[in-house]
Amino acid sequence: MSKRYGRLQKAALDAGEMFYYTGVPCKRGHVDVRYASIGMCRTCVREQRKKWAADNPERYVEVERAKTARWVKKHNVRVNEYNARRRAERSRANVFNVPRSAFSPFYKDAQRKSLETGIQHVVDHYYPLRGETVSGLHVPWNLQVITEEENLRKKNKHPETFYKNGENQ
Ligand SMILES: [Zn+2]
Repeated sequence: MSKRYGRLQKAALDAGEMFYYTGVPCKRGHVDVRYASIGMCRTCVREQRKKWAADNPERYVEVERAKTARWVKKHNVRVNEYNARRRAERSRANVFNVPRSAFSPFYKDAQRKSLETGIQHVVDHYYPLRGETVSGLHVPWNLQVITEEENLRKKNKHPETFYKNGENQ
């Protein structure tokens, strides 16, 4: 990198720009912007990356996978979506506008039972919010603490059928 380009590069770095442009072809003849961080032409970087990917296919997959994982972790799209849907569902189902404090004993109870027994306990809607035949409400009197295992078997079944058939045993 010559001193002439160094000035433009430094200006770009100072301004927090990703690229700078000299208008002068790079040593491989590309007229393209250059990365402020390394002073390298964008086309050269692209070609280098492509070559590296071709030479290191397995490593390339790994790197891409890690990139995706970081992205997912950052955006957490599905988790956020899921939580938002649950919140919306609960507020819709909370037709009596019951305060949050009325629900917390159930969650505390689930936590206590989990710790005491070493078996994961969860707060379940006795009548599921999205039941197969009936839909329950997000109200304290529709809550119960059961094991996660039972909760998974119960799913969206009608509770009376589920418990009558002894499916919880
Ligand atoms: Zn180049």
